[in-house]
Amino acid sequence: MKADEKDFTGCLSKLQLIELDSCTRCSECLKHCPVQDVTGRPAISPPEKIRMFREFIKATDGLKARLFGPRDIDKKLLEDFTKAVYECTTCGACGQNCTVGIFTQRLWPMLRKEMVRRGLAPIGPQANLPKAIERTGNIYDKPPEQRYSPWFPEGVMVSERSDIAYYAGCTGAYEAQPMVRGDVLVLNAIGEPFTMLPPEEEVCCGFPLFITGQHDMLEDLTKRLVNAYRARGVRLLLCSCPCCVNIMSRDWPLFYGQQLPFKIRHITQFVADAIRQGRLRFKKELKERIIYHDPCYLSRGVGVIDEPRIVLRSIPGVELLEFERHGLNSRCCGAGGAARKVFHENAIAMGRLTIDEAVKKKAEKLILSCPACYSKVNEAMVDYDKQIRIVDIMELVGSLI
Ligand code: SF4
Ligand code: SF4
Repeated sequence: MKADEKDFTGCLSKLQLIELDSCTRCSECLKHCPVQDVTGRPAISPPEKIRMFREFIKATDGLKARLFGPRDIDKKLLEDFTKAVYECTTCGACGQNCTVGIFTQRLWPMLRKEMVRRGLAPIGPQANLPKAIERTGNIYDKPPEQRYSPWFPEGVMVSERSDIAYYAGCTGAYEAQPMVRGDVLVLNAIGEPFTMLPPEEEVCCGFPLFITGQHDMLEDLTKRLVNAYRARGVRLLLCSCPCCVNIMSRDWPLFYGQQLPFKIRHITQFVADAIRQGRLRFKKELKERIIYHDPCYLSRGVGVIDEPRIVLRSIPGVELLEFERHGLNSRCCGAGGAARKVFHENAIAMGRLTIDEAVKKKAEKLILSCPACYSKVNEAMVDYDKQIRIVDIMELVGSLI
């Protein structure tokens, strides 16, 4: 860290400031960045963002800035930098392959928080998120009473209190309904009682606010949800959205101010255990070649890589294929980082790269495990000359039990 930057803290931790200073500009990360794959613009690459942010800190908070006043930064440069920080999907592939080990999946959101603190962001419709959540509890500004309809399967019993709870999440409930329907059908088939909050109480987990740098409501949302599950006696909270799992396990304890009274697991972890222990059996076989895409926030985010594969390999008759980049190295499908609604064309182009490879490998189904991936890759298929059937992992399991 340079001497004139050492007192800057803002939203970044000391480690993150050191990380900013340790980038060697080797450009290794560019080969792994999905945004680079579809834009080819090094100006929005990790080393360039880091360089610009360092310049920005120097101009506004460096020693000279404090002695003689902050230096003006060209407005256009500042706009371009802000756009670059938000055009990223925060997939973390750059960090996974960074030669000096910069933890970018964490660094980029904190840069965004810093941009918001300085009044430079969020951008576009992201600015509407806090009001939408305030009004309706969800990021889509949809009626809260419709959160579990029309997808909730008939005849499935939800307990008032239980050790196990299921959280559907905003994107699953409103934009990827076959996925959450599949979750509930599979949980029901496993046969252990589970609880859910009433639809009006199941508010946003906070991830969209976190990832866009808008942190003001996070403590309140966390406390509302954690206390509601605590009141129902919950010891294990299951969800299928990798971003929910991520913020719940990594950040909720910080916002809650203490350890959570329950564990968080992705639904594939719970279902893989049920299959291994003989509590869930497939009644039908599937003689097909299928390919599984690792969501960035599930594989790189929380390290859930084996369990979805355990589930899929247990299906009688299935041949499971792999993408060239998979597991910790998976390539983002374009849906991450709250960029999909702002940089729509990039997201579609990234989604099509995923479709292209799945089709090239002659897979008959593309299996996803994240509601944002589900929604965006389906969108990428519209009017595209390559077609493949997209299925969520629990939607598939639910159809075979
Ligand atoms: S997080 Fe992903 S999209 Fe963002 S710069 Fe890194 S590799 Fe590119
Ligand atoms: S790989 Fe790491 S050190 Fe190299 S340019 Fe990218 S962020 Fe910087």
